[in-house]
Amino acid sequence: MSARFFKGLPTFVLYLSISLTAIASGASIDVLNLIDKKDNELSVLDGEQEPYVSVKEVSKLLSDRLPFENAARQKIVLYIGNQRIKISNSSSFVVVDDQVFQMSTHALVKYDDIYVPAESFFSILKQSILPGLDYDAAKKLLSLNLIEFNINGVVIEQKSNGTILRVNTSRQFSDGDISSFVNNNGWFYLTVREGIIDTSMIKKTDTRGVVTKITSNQFDESAQLAFRLRSDIIGHEVYQSSDPNAIVVTLRTPFKKLASHIKDMKKRWRLDTVVLDAGHGGKDPGTIGRKGTTEKDIVLDITKRVGSLLEENTHINVMYTREEDVFIPVWKRTKIANEANGKLFVSIHVNSNPNRSVRGFETYLLKPGKTDDAIEVASRENAVIRLEEGKARKKYNAMTGENLIMATMAQSMFMKESEDLAAYIQEELDQLLDSPNRGLKQAGFYVLIGASMPNVLVEAGFISNPNEERKLKSAAYRKKVAKGIYSGIMRFRKSREQALAEG
Ligand SMILES: [Zn+2]
Repeated sequence: MSARFFKGLPTFVLYLSISLTAIASGASIDVLNLIDKKDNELSVLDGEQEPYVSVKEVSKLLSDRLPFENAARQKIVLYIGNQRIKISNSSSFVVVDDQVFQMSTHALVKYDDIYVPAESFFSILKQSILPGLDYDAAKKLLSLNLIEFNINGVVIEQKSNGTILRVNTSRQFSDGDISSFVNNNGWFYLTVREGIIDTSMIKKTDTRGVVTKITSNQFDESAQLAFRLRSDIIGHEVYQSSDPNAIVVTLRTPFKKLASHIKDMKKRWRLDTVVLDAGHGGKDPGTIGRKGTTEKDIVLDITKRVGSLLEENTHINVMYTREEDVFIPVWKRTKIANEANGKLFVSIHVNSNPNRSVRGFETYLLKPGKTDDAIEVASRENAVIRLEEGKARKKYNAMTGENLIMATMAQSMFMKESEDLAAYIQEELDQLLDSPNRGLKQAGFYVLIGASMPNVLVEAGFISNPNEERKLKSAAYRKKVAKGIYSGIMRFRKSREQALAEG
């Protein structure tokens, strides 16, 4: 894109070439480059309701770098400016650097290329990295007013003795072009001569550490960043790094022992609320045994028994996602959990397998499924969303590829604890049940996705196995299962309290 670089403010760039804005006809999108006034076109996919454009063609138009294609995984990465744009077949998600955007419909692989819905893809590009791009869907006209930003965003990192600001740039500036100062009102200013700043990216900066707010301004000859500071700093340094290019600023704060912070953490970590989620319910029976035993009834009984044990023996507050035979949409289950400020989420299910000899208990974590068996269990448990109303179903995105990885990443902060909890539950069940321990497993479960707390899904046994169906029908056996889950939660609480006492 360097050829399209020009100095000064972008807004003046000639929107004059009106003669070229002829209405597009046929199967293509007209492209009007407002800088070099060359026009061009993008072909669109036949037979689709809305125009789909080729990702490779868009890349050729907007970048002089070739895209990276992974044909086997049906993914493509575009390099536009300093950013990577990832698109996967069958996914409606577009990942721009690490930000996720969603298109109106999913990408399609055709003719050795990936196609995306034009209107929403261009809108994502405009919002994220190319504010000078405008798509007129009615006229099928794409106008390009592309300038190259050289200040592309800020990443803030908090260290024990200060805050680091990394201002990402696409070139090196001379030291004389960079100036900085702290004013009396608690703002730190960084001014870069010849800087052209992507203010839309600056707005997205996550503030942390001593920085509470960021603003940016584009002037004729320079760009300025202003950082609002939470507290005094004892000094600052500015230097440039290369590979990748950045202006790095350190804001030094006095080092202090964070006693109040630790107290806060302890309060936040205290296991005061446990959310128990009995799977299925109402019009969704879950899996059904040969003798007619329904999963929804078995798991509600086990769940209530776990709750009673917690209520009788501890001061832990128990929150149920359902206490009766009612249908609760999957998304609502984690919403209930989060609103209750739960510290643990335990979803209780029983299993089924076409092979009637399969039996035993297993506990799942939310991670991409490793084995075919695990994926099979997850897709069966996830199938319930088909029973939800059409509108609500839109809340779910396919639990595959990128989506699942995103969900897992969001869960990673709880992952170690979820693993501990799952391991304790398995060990305790193993002590009590005369049934095979099938261990810890991982797969993508919708019901675990939204929970902002350590979470597991227990599959307490197979009602497809005649022996286990018989056992699960007995109250004495369900009592044992409940005892095992309860003891697992107790061990989890103990280990967390120990960790806090040591911390
Ligand atoms: Zn289930």
